[in-house]
Amino acid sequence: MAVMKVLILGGTRAGRELARLLVASGHDVVSSLAGRVTRPADIAGQTRVGGFGGVDGLAAYLRDEAIERVVDVTHPFAEQISANAAEACRLVGIPLLRIERPSWAQHLLASNWVWVDDHAAAARTAAAFSRVLLTVGRQSLRHYLELPHVVARMVDPPDHPVPSSWQLRLERGPFTIDDERALLRDTAITALVTKDSGDPLTEAKLCAAAELDVTVIILRRAPAPEGVPAVGTPQEAAAWVATQHPQITTSGKAKPTQG
Ligand code: NAP
Repeated sequence: MAVMKVLILGGTRAGRELARLLVASGHDVVSSLAGRVTRPADIAGQTRVGGFGGVDGLAAYLRDEAIERVVDVTHPFAEQISANAAEACRLVGIPLLRIERPSWAQHLLASNWVWVDDHAAAARTAAAFSRVLLTVGRQSLRHYLELPHVVARMVDPPDHPVPSSWQLRLERGPFTIDDERALLRDTAITALVTKDSGDPLTEAKLCAAAELDVTVIILRRAPAPEGVPAVGTPQEAAAWVATQHPQITTSGKAKPTQG
């Protein structure tokens, strides 16, 4: 099997799992993190932290580090880095794959939820409810600052002030259905705002909300970048890394491989 130098755009459990699989198979792996979380979990292989400096910076990194494969395993709502990866890999001519968790649009409970396109719409909808649980990540809290009665759960504290009436819960999941039921009950939540992450490990809150008649307000995903092949699991991505790919020209067209 050919050993590849692989860049994983990570920040997710699936990214860590892919790093583990690829390192175990002998590939040379660098995982890239944005640096938003103060205590990231351990990752197999090398890690680099911080932005690349847009498309040009990422393209320069791919060239300088002689990266041969890129796998985008960022969160479905990390739209900018995914768009940058698509463009930079096209410019440099490196195969790119995306791991995409299925959307919750097909979830059994999905038709009961209030689907919204953006945080502004989520905040407007949530304003009709007495007590709101926010699980949208600390970077999105600013859209909700006018809501008075909020429980906001996130890993690291917000980097701006929030209303003193809010309760912050600094916790890292996964949470069980018992945890989620207790949280919703104990804090008298009437609406939950969350993203269509599709992550089975964050699904318990949706089930607990259904049981307790808590309204779920859910943010739709933006479309994924065009022309980037996708698989559903780290195992499929590991198999893709090991296979031969046609060399990509800088116009984005595949060139037959030689030999
Ligand atoms: P984003 O809005 O798509 O990206 C904004 C900028 O942050 C990018 O242009 C890039 O800066 C830098 N960046 C993002 N991800 C990076 C990575 N993995 N490695 C290096 N630079 C990165 O991203 P985001 O929504 O803030 O997410 C940041 C990270 O948190 C991602 O790794 C994502 O997987 C993880 N995460 C996000 C969410 C979410 O809900 N958005 C949830 C869980 C985890 P430059 O342009 O300078 O390269």
